[in-house]
Amino acid sequence: KLASREFSADRSVIRVGDAAEVGGRSLAVIAGPCSVEGRDMLRETAFSVASAGAGMLRGGAFKPRTSPYAFQGLGEAALRMLADVRAETGLPIVTEVMDTRQVELVAEYADVLQIGARNMQNFALLSEVGRVQRPVLLKRGLSATVQELLMAAEYVMAQGNRDVILCERGIRTFETATRNTLDVAAIPVLKAETHLPVMVDPSHAGGRADLVAPLSFAAIAAGADGLIVEVHPCPEQALSDGDQSLTLAAFEKLMIDIRVFADAV
Ligand code: PEP
Ligand code: MN
Repeated sequence: KLASREFSADRSVIRVGDAAEVGGRSLAVIAGPCSVEGRDMLRETAFSVASAGAGMLRGGAFKPRTSPYAFQGLGEAALRMLADVRAETGLPIVTEVMDTRQVELVAEYADVLQIGARNMQNFALLSEVGRVQRPVLLKRGLSATVQELLMAAEYVMAQGNRDVILCERGIRTFETATRNTLDVAAIPVLKAETHLPVMVDPSHAGGRADLVAPLSFAAIAAGADGLIVEVHPCPEQALSDGDQSLTLAAFEKLMIDIRVFADAV
């Protein structure tokens, strides 16, 4: 299998844009709002996370909301804002594509195509992003096993796109104190099974801003290649995922603490 360590003994280092990489020596950090809510909040967040040391900017344009009545994202307008902010900050952009009909459009703007947890087994979508030359950030499904995640990666890779980044973002368990349960063990398990880089999303895993730092440290200790973190200039007013979003100041502190912690492990 294309994702297996038998296929490639060397770990894959995935290049993003000209400057960023995932799976290399340093921890890759993607930060930004859950949803792009407007130009000003996106710019403010981007400049702040860039100066704190993030290497890529995230922001949803098409949002997979549980309720069809909730904010669904600004669509192509958000993609244009992301591209404009990339031009200003130099940060490559990571954004979700939800539908096969939007792959071409999203790929015109994005540096990394995010496949959301709810679409991890949307096989038509996986194949479609497999035919595009953009790295894919593949999030683990809400109730998907490690093997199912790896098979989803195969769907992408089988079409020719070998640049897949796996993302553990918490799975559904009986526990309700957290939004999901971060499967820390999945990180070394995946790294034993595959040459692909493994990122962790502590924001969706815990669902709470106060858990982002401890889950980030756990992820780093377990061998994660990177983190994707939700950051918002005013989390109380966020249109999606405010409870789990870090303020700009909290993200800056996280980046300092991560450096200290990463040197210690
Ligand atoms: C997101 O990154 O905002 C998101 C919707 O993530 P997930 O697909 O992991 O729930
Ligand atoms: Mn979110």
